[in-house]
Amino acid sequence: MRRREFIAAMVYPLSEFAQRHAPLGQSRPVLVTPEEFHIAYPQVEAWIQTTLATYEKHAQPIASMHFARLPRYFDHDLLESTKCIPIDRVPMPPLAALGLGRFAAFEEGDFDGVTYLNRYFIKQTVVTEEAVHFHELIHVIQWRLLGPERFLRAYANGLDEFGYENSPLERMAYDAEVSFKRSSAIFDAEKFVAKRLGRM
Ligand SMILES: [Zn+2]
Repeated sequence: MRRREFIAAMVYPLSEFAQRHAPLGQSRPVLVTPEEFHIAYPQVEAWIQTTLATYEKHAQPIASMHFARLPRYFDHDLLESTKCIPIDRVPMPPLAALGLGRFAAFEEGDFDGVTYLNRYFIKQTVVTEEAVHFHELIHVIQWRLLGPERFLRAYANGLDEFGYENSPLERMAYDAEVSFKRSSAIFDAEKFVAKRLGRM
């Protein structure tokens, strides 16, 4: 998922932003416990399936949107099989209701996009912004390489341990997006994700 003010902060006043968002260290809550995950995971998975089924009729293959640069970074098959759903507000799973009350603020967050498996919701206002699609496509690769259970566990633990901005799966997506925005140098996005996941 992607938050507008964060990418602006990364591209411009990088050091100042890093200070304001320094990890909180000792005061961070514990990681998602196996018990919490065991209870929440099947319900989040079910919520994702229901939500995607509801919106599937509005889903558009990324390849059909004819972005100029995305095909240089992502396989054609990925751009054909991945679809996006333009929407006014991206849907978030009911984490607080599933016993994960400490994610309530995250759940209420206003994001430009959010990815579930190989579908992503994107705000109508940014649907033509190639970089937002680039960011969510990095998450599509993460979902596929990790599988849903490992992705959600890693994402939840990353939020708990580091907060949204510094969670490893988000750092990866923002780092790739910043490279995409700053330079026209082409890299293989899938290899980039595979390499970074290997270091997590
Ligand atoms: Zn993201």
